[in-house]
Amino acid sequence: MSSPPPPIQLNILIVGAGIAGLSAARALSLNGHHITVFERSQLSNEVGAAITISPNGCRVLRALGFDFDGVGGVDIRYLQTNHAVTFEKIFFADFRDAEETCGAKHHAMHRLDLHRELERLALLSGAEDSDARSQTNRNGNATGSVKILKGVTITRIDTENAEIEISDGRVFNGDLLIGADGLHSEVRAHATGKREEPIDTGWQIYRFLLPREKVMEDPVMREMKKENTRMIYEMPDEKAESTVRFVWYECRNGEIQNFAGFYRGVEDQTKVEDFGHIADKETVIRLFGRINPKLINFIRHADKILYWRVYERYPLPSFTYHSRTILIGDAAHAMTPMTAQGGTQALEDAGALHALFAAIPSLSSLSERIALYDKVRLIRATRIQLGVGGG
Ligand SMILES: Cc1cc2nc3c(=O)[nH]c(=O)nc-3n(C[C@H](O)[C@H](O)[C@H](O)COP(=O)(O)OP(=O)(O)OC[C@H]3O[C@@H](n4cnc5c(N)ncnc54)[C@H](O)[C@@H]3O)c2cc1C
Repeated sequence: MSSPPPPIQLNILIVGAGIAGLSAARALSLNGHHITVFERSQLSNEVGAAITISPNGCRVLRALGFDFDGVGGVDIRYLQTNHAVTFEKIFFADFRDAEETCGAKHHAMHRLDLHRELERLALLSGAEDSDARSQTNRNGNATGSVKILKGVTITRIDTENAEIEISDGRVFNGDLLIGADGLHSEVRAHATGKREEPIDTGWQIYRFLLPREKVMEDPVMREMKKENTRMIYEMPDEKAESTVRFVWYECRNGEIQNFAGFYRGVEDQTKVEDFGHIADKETVIRLFGRINPKLINFIRHADKILYWRVYERYPLPSFTYHSRTILIGDAAHAMTPMTAQGGTQALEDAGALHALFAAIPSLSSLSERIALYDKVRLIRATRIQLGVGGG
């Protein structure tokens, strides 16, 4: 009996090298495919703030060979919500058994560290990553590759033919095009044929970091500090359209304390949703003035507070287009950060791509795999997107 032909290796074009694009590049290259990632920035602009990745995302990261210790990932064992004025406990969850019940821990990490590690893994593909490959590669001997083109300007996107043209005139043809270009996705606009503005949730977010020493030097902050805990302070007695929320957890082995103040109300600071705008500290203190002074004390200690406005998107009827294009991450299902699932869902997308685009026997079976992607991801990601809602 003759053995089946070896699986084919696809040429895949990915637009965007955020969490979605980099994890997808890694996941698909582990299947033996050849990936070109187009990134308009130099990848040095990831925001100085932390992110939590729940076990569903950490399972994917682990399968990609992610080095949790290397990035100083903090194991989040508890989630606690307190009243933002009285500090009365409202909710508590114990995640200590997450490894057994969910297959992975819940990690907090610095965004820069997460991105750098994903980029390292992506570029490692096809090189010396034999350990990760042996755990995850379903394509036997096929060796994939990832090229990341940074600082590129895309001048033409053809979602029907999986084709990209960049400003120096080069044209790239893929078997598959993946739009991982975030909230303002150009690939999404081309694929759907609609250019819609994102939805303003009304939330403004103010973020800052404090070194652990600074927290430990101050008796009030030190007394409040809890290890391995994601603390949320909120105002349950206020209306959702006019309220505040304060979130605190640590990253980088606990060396960095990460804070986020969420404000929704009549006072409009900004229409800017991009990262990196510096807020006036006294204004922030005024906006959050009604919460417990012990929380305001943290804001007073901040050197730099970054702010932006939060937008989301209406759900899409499909993440796949023209049997050649798939949207992932925020390009597909941008959601508010309230339940911390946007990045984690991007990782689930990468996990699904890895599972579905393994051992492809021929190009003619590609459209079937692309259609399966919607079956696997559309309802799940959309439910999470809707569940998070506008606040
Ligand atoms: C305050 C806040 C807190 C959050 N906290 C969490 C959390 O704790 N846990 C969690 O899971 N999620 C969280 N999220 C959500 C998470 O940050 C996002 O869902 C995630 O970063 C989206 O990743 P992405 O790769 O899809 O998009 P992006 O990070 O936006 O990346 C898109 C990339 O595409 C590039 N790009 C865009 N257009 C083009 C183009 N035309 N050509 C080439 N490149 C292009 C961009 O430069 C960028 O690098 C939070 C979000 C916010 C705002």
